[in-house]
Formats: sequence, structure tokens, C-alpha cells
Amino acid sequence: MTIQHLINGKAVGSAATFETTNPATQATLAEVAAGGEAEINAAVQAAKDAFPAWAGRPATERAAIMRKLGELITKHVPELSRTETDDTGQTISQTGKQLVPRAADNFSYFAEMCTRVDGHTYPTPTHLNYTLFHPVGVCALISPWNVPFMTATWKTAPCLAFGNTAVLKMSELSPLTAARLGELALEAGVPPGVLNIVHGFGKEAGEPLCSHPDVRAISFTGSTATGNRIVQSAGLKKFSMELGGKSPFVIFEDADLDRALDAAVFMIFSNNGERCTAGSRILVQQSIYADFAQKFAERAKKIVVGDPQDDKTIVGPMISKAHLAKVKSYIELGPKEGATMLCGGLDRPSYAPELSARVAKGNYVWPTVFADVDNRMKIAQDEIFGPVACLIPFKDEAHAIELANDIQYGLSSYVWTENLGKAHRVAASIEAGMCFVNSQNVRDLRQPFGGTKASGTGREGGTWSYEVFLEPKNVAVSL
Ligand code: NAD
Repeated sequence: MTIQHLINGKAVGSAATFETTNPATQATLAEVAAGGEAEINAAVQAAKDAFPAWAGRPATERAAIMRKLGELITKHVPELSRTETDDTGQTISQTGKQLVPRAADNFSYFAEMCTRVDGHTYPTPTHLNYTLFHPVGVCALISPWNVPFMTATWKTAPCLAFGNTAVLKMSELSPLTAARLGELALEAGVPPGVLNIVHGFGKEAGEPLCSHPDVRAISFTGSTATGNRIVQSAGLKKFSMELGGKSPFVIFEDADLDRALDAAVFMIFSNNGERCTAGSRILVQQSIYADFAQKFAERAKKIVVGDPQDDKTIVGPMISKAHLAKVKSYIELGPKEGATMLCGGLDRPSYAPELSARVAKGNYVWPTVFADVDNRMKIAQDEIFGPVACLIPFKDEAHAIELANDIQYGLSSYVWTENLGKAHRVAASIEAGMCFVNSQNVRDLRQPFGGTKASGTGREGGTWSYEVFLEPKNVAVSL
């Protein structure tokens, strides 16, 4: 299979290509066109040319096309899920039941939203002030590899629905489903040039896209290091930066422990642990710490690691050999820093069944749990982005808040307690863009999604998406 760019409604190749591989089987899935400055320039020009007509269409017409695109995604859920699972190693239960259906929701939701954009009025005795919201223009949408289809649609849907045009650059590690998104968009009636997709690497394709003078806004999801680089080099633009995380999952002694245990296991091991909002620092009150650690490790040992196309698999392969090596380097580091490894490790543990022949060469690592972790250890401070949990004890409420905030990141957070006052106090005190109380991460598309500190700037979701994809203008009329 060959994957090409989508520029001005046409499939366009590049002289250079790269391979995308299946991280479970190592099979080559496709040869992908490797875009550079020339392809980026052509795509931005196409988006610029398409902008006035698209922005000028009534919102109801754009909404109808977005709704149709959502329906087409729904129709193709099985095919898209299988492709996403092949390309990323994310399990079929996640892609088929959560991630791809959610991608369809992104379009139906923003189809509705774009017809409801209104302004504010601020009448005074001398002036009538009101606000207009205009689309921004050409937007650069950049996605990482972990949940690429969901992320691509999460950006494309509001961007296009609000009247902007886009150049989407997927991660070089997982380009396949976005290529299908381009085809489905044309089928839904998205005009040529409104959505352009350029494949390629960060330096060759991502950098010229972000620094292009005709790009007015950048919605980037990826690592903190890359986000920092983009903000420094892109020049004056609107930014939405959805970056890394190392989110605290705080469990007090008065929590409903069975539910907390379920959610803690889910929030670190689902999506192969390759999840920006993973509850990767599990802070547990001292009085229940030993009991919780033992139960948590027992649960981790039972997690099914294997073929991501198998419905029963919970943890599939890491996206690449390089990422596998990174995750393993932290598993190696943990004991050296003084943490106690309760389960998992560098190789398949004796309690875990063997992998099937089909995936025997996959990039696997088994769920690993470290106890006796000090929050200042590197395994607690760095985003490992794999199925590696750190269990950290705390004394009391003040100590829990101190540890939760003692980190460069501030994406998500989780608090488990049956004490209502404590739940609200801690939720208010944690430095994070999101806090879930007695809950795993449950996304409501109306709420602001995003992080603080090194986890990013800007929020997307509901009217929060106005921040990046719409330009407010104040009109003041003298009375
Ligand atoms: P990455 O930063 O390496 O790459 C992300 C994207 O940026 C890729 O498409 C890449 O090609 C591109 N890129 C790389 N260098 C670039 C440059 N100089 N200019 C422009 N684009 C460039 O991240 P990754 O390894 O693909 O993804 C994992 C990271 O993404 C983790 O840190 C994770 O937490 C984060 N993430 C965050 C969220 C969120 O919503 N906050 C969601 C998912 C993933």
C-alpha cells in the first residue's frame, strides 16, 4: 500500500518515502510519502485559497458536511479500528469501542456547536458594544502517534466547522487512519483545499508548517519538548498546546477502595499506558498503602498482554522499538533509584502467558508496578508513556497536595475520597487542567480539555475551542 498526501483534494506523492510498520508483527503496512517544505507550501497555499469560500458558507451548510463525515466514520468503524490497531498497537477494544466512535462524535458535536456561535453585547449609555467571532484562517493541526485518529478528528472537526481551513500533519509513526479521514472528508463533501494532509517527519514537514507565515493558528498535541520548540520558532500565532503529563491519582484512606483500584488500574494500563492523561503517579495514603500495593500488583499481573487485534487484550505493543527502549530504560532505572518492583520487568514475567506466534516479535513490555517510590525519583517525575505505575505513599491531605503539585506537569488529576469537603479542597488545590473526583477520565466534549504548567497552554472543547479556532472582534457603535 502507498499513502500519499492530500493537497487541494488530490493525492500527491513525494520523491522520498518512509515505511509505517505494525508494532505487533513488525510487518510493513505502507510506504508513505515523506513531505517537506514544497509539499507544506502547496498545502498551505491550497488551504489559503479555499478559505474565503469555506468561511463564507452558512454555518448550517458546514454543519451538514461535518455531520455527514461523522456518519461516514460511524459506518466505517470496524475498518478504521482495525487499521488504527495495526498502525499503533492500541487494542481493538479501545479503538473499536472508544477511540473511533469518539472520532465520529467529534464531528457531530462540532456540527452542532458551529451553528450556535453567538456574540456578547455590552450596551452603555453612549455605545453599543458587541462581539463578532470570525474564523482564523489557515490552521496547522499536528498530531502525535498514541491515539492518532481521535486526535486528528478532535482538531479537524472544530477547525473546519468554525470555517477555517487546515493542514493536518500526522505523526510519522501512525499515518494510516488520517489518510482515510482525508478520503472520507472528500466523500462527505468537504471542498478541495479545506482539509489538506501532509505526511512526514517533524523537522522536514512539521517545522516548515508551524513557521509558515500564512498559518494563523497551531493546534499541536505532542511532547512538551516539541511544544516548546514550536512556540519558540513559529512566530506570532494562536497556539493550543496539548503536551505531556504525569498525572497524580490520589487515593485517601476513606475512599471506596474497590472502585479506586479499578480506576487506578484502568488509568495507567489502558491504551498501553501510552496516554497523556494516564494516572501514572498513584499517591496512596500511608494507612492503606501496603494493602493497596499488594492488591494493585495482583491486578496488574492478571492484565492480558498480547495481540492488539484480540478483543481480550488489554495491553498491546509499544508503538516503536525506540519507544520500547525508552520505557524499558525506566524499568531498569526504578530499582537503581531505590524503588521496589512488585511485578513486570524487562522481559516476560514467569506468571504471564507466552505471546502468540503472530505477535512474538512485537514491541512488548509487561505491566510494571513500582512501590516505595519517592516523588523526586526520575521514574516519578518523567513521563514514561508506557504501562509503568509508581505507587507513592503520603501522610495527610496537605502532603498529598504537596506531592501532587511537585512536578513540572499539570494535565489531569484524580482524587478518591468519600469526604465531600476534602474532595473539593483537593480538587481546587491541585495544579492541573482537569480533576476527576471518584472517577476515571471521562470526557465530556463541552468541557475544557488541556493542561497547565509544562502540560500546555490553551483549552479545547465546547466554547473553549473558540480560543484557538475563532477570532473575537469587538464592535463599538456610538449611539
Ligand atoms: P512528539 O512531540 O515527538 O511528536 C508530535 C508531533 O509533532 C508528530 O507529528 C511529530 O512529527 C511532530 N513534530 C516533531 N518535531 C516537530 C517540530 N519541530 N515542529 C513541528 N512538528 C514536529 O510527540 P509524540 O512522541 O508523537 O507523542 C507523545 C507525546 O504526546 C506525549 O508527551 C504525550 O503526553 C503527548 N500527548 C498529549 C496529549 C494531550 O492532549 N495533552 C494527548 C496525546 C499525547
